[in-house]
Amino acid sequence: MIYADNAATTKMSEAAVHTMSALLADTWGNPSSLYTAGQKAKEALEKARAEVAAAIGAEPREILFTSGGSEADNQAIRSAAELGKKAGKLHLISTAFEHHAVLHTLAKLEKEGFEVTLLPVHEDGLVRPQEVADAIREDTCLVSVMYANNEIGTIQPIREIGAICRARGVLFHTDAVQAVGHIPVDVLLDNIDLLSASAHKFHGPKGVGFLYAKKGIRLTNLIEGGAQERGRRAGTENVPGIAAMAAALTETIAAMPEVSARLAMLRDRLIAGLSKIPHAALNGDASKRLPSNVNFCFEGIEGESLLLLLDDRGIAASSGSACTSGSLDPSHVLLAIGRVHDVAHGSLRLSIGEDITEADVEYIIRNVAEVVDYLRGFSPIWRDLVAGKKEFIL
Ligand SMILES: *Cc1c(COP(=O)(O)O)cnc(C)c1O
Repeated sequence: MIYADNAATTKMSEAAVHTMSALLADTWGNPSSLYTAGQKAKEALEKARAEVAAAIGAEPREILFTSGGSEADNQAIRSAAELGKKAGKLHLISTAFEHHAVLHTLAKLEKEGFEVTLLPVHEDGLVRPQEVADAIREDTCLVSVMYANNEIGTIQPIREIGAICRARGVLFHTDAVQAVGHIPVDVLLDNIDLLSASAHKFHGPKGVGFLYAKKGIRLTNLIEGGAQERGRRAGTENVPGIAAMAAALTETIAAMPEVSARLAMLRDRLIAGLSKIPHAALNGDASKRLPSNVNFCFEGIEGESLLLLLDDRGIAASSGSACTSGSLDPSHVLLAIGRVHDVAHGSLRLSIGEDITEADVEYIIRNVAEVVDYLRGFSPIWRDLVAGKKEFIL
C-alpha cells in the first residue's frame, strides 16, 4: 500500500513504539505516588515535558498534556473566552477554514453569548494579516488562526498575525496540529500565546497531545478532579503515550530539514503530474504549503468514488476530511476558498510521508489520471460539460 493520508494520521515511529512499550512494561507507576515506582513515572513525564517544550521554544511549565489536538483546541479557546468574559470582552476572531474542534467550540460559545467573527480565506488558501488587524475591536479577547490547514496544507502568516495581536493586546491561539513536527515552529519568534498539537500527526500515538500556554495565562479546566498538570487537567497521566509523543517529536524535528526538502521535491512532482489532467486545479497556494500536501479538484467526478478506486489500486488517500466523509456536504475548507459545490465534491488530498519513493509518485500520477478518466466516462455531469450544457469551471 502507498499511504498518502498522513494528514489524517501517521504511522508511529520505531522510537515512539519502543519508548511506549518499554514504559508500558516497566514504568507503570502513578506519577503522583511518592514511592520509587511512582517517582520513576514522574521523571519520565517531566523528561517528556522538557523535550516537548524544547521542540517549540517553550518552557516546560508552559506545556499541558492533553488527550490530543481537539482537547487542546477546546481548552485554549474556552480559556481565552473565560478570561475575556472577566474583562467584559466577548468578541472572538477566527477563520472560516479552521478544524471543527475550533469551529464547533466557537459555535458553542456563540450560544453562550459570545460574538464570533470568522474571517474569509482567500482563493490561495491564505488569511490576510491586514484583515485580522481590521477585525480586532476593543472587546476582542482572542484571535485563533490555524498554522497550516489540514486539507489544503496552506501555511498561514502566523508570525505577522501574532505580532498584530501582541501589539493590540489580544491573545493569539494557533491550531498547529499540522505544523508541529513538519515545519519549524517557535512560540517566541511566532508571537504565539496558545498553541495546540497532537502526537498522532507526527508519528506519535493517538489520544495524546499538548497545549502550550504562555506563562501567566490562566487556563480553564475542561476536566475537573485531581491536581495533575498543575491543577489544569485532572486525570492520571498517560505516561507511556506522553513519553512516546516526546520521542517522536524529538526524532521528527532532527530529521526535518532533510525530510522536508525531499518531500517538497516529490510534492512538486505530484503537482506537476496531476496538473496535466484536463479540467483539474490545485487547491491552495503552490509554494506556501506543507511539503507533504497535495490537494486537487477534478471537475465532473465524485471524490468518494475516486478514493475507493484508488484504494483498489493500493493507494490510501482522502477527499475532504476524514471527519466529514460519510456526509454529503462538501468540505467547508474548499467552500471557504471559493470552490463551488460541484467542484468541491471532486477533491483529492494526498498527504505524503517519509517512506514515499519516486516510483510511488509516478504510480500515483498514472493511476489518478486513469481513474479520473474512467469515472468521467459515466459521469452525467461530465457528459453535460462535454456537450456544452454546462460550463466548465476548471
Ligand atoms: C487532526 C487535527 C486535529 C485533531 O487532533 P486529534 O488529536 O485527532 O484530536 C485538530 N486540528 C487539526 C488541524 C488537525 O489536523
